[in-house]
Amino acid sequence: MTLTELNDQIRKCRKCRLWQGAKNAVPGEGPPDATLMLVGQNPGAEEDKTGRPFVGRAGKFLNKILAKNGLNREELFITNLVKHTSPKNRKPLPDEIAACAPYLEEQIKTIKPKIVVLMGTVAWRAPRVEGVEYVETYHPSAAMRFTKMRKKFEEDFSALKNRL
Ligand code: URA
Repeated sequence: MTLTELNDQIRKCRKCRLWQGAKNAVPGEGPPDATLMLVGQNPGAEEDKTGRPFVGRAGKFLNKILAKNGLNREELFITNLVKHTSPKNRKPLPDEIAACAPYLEEQIKTIKPKIVVLMGTVAWRAPRVEGVEYVETYHPSAAMRFTKMRKKFEEDFSALKNRL
């Protein structure tokens, strides 16, 4: 399947309840042959408004860390485990994750990145595809707030440079 076909399916998805409260699905963005993929939890308010991943506060912080480590956001594929926003930004429920995870699995199989960075404990539940390396780090929102998490988040991104 192509990414365009996948994006169409994601935008039309009614497999769980989350589409009802969302303005836009957020399939993700980036080159179809990216070597690095970043995965967050699910879109927040800004992302829901624009249909683009990580464009709010957490995204601005993430951009800063990427730039600091010589990683160009335009060269990465950025997405989320769950493609619709949730009421009051609550964590996606297990059945919502189960319904949405096949889209991420298909994105990984289509893009075939070398490394997938899972940001936050919800993203850690992403499906694993054979032959792909996974890095589990914290969510940028947590890294922004807590020094210890920020340290690991920065270390994990700094270590990526030499592995791509
Ligand atoms: N938080 C996420 O997990 N994903 C986004 O796209 C934005 C904020």
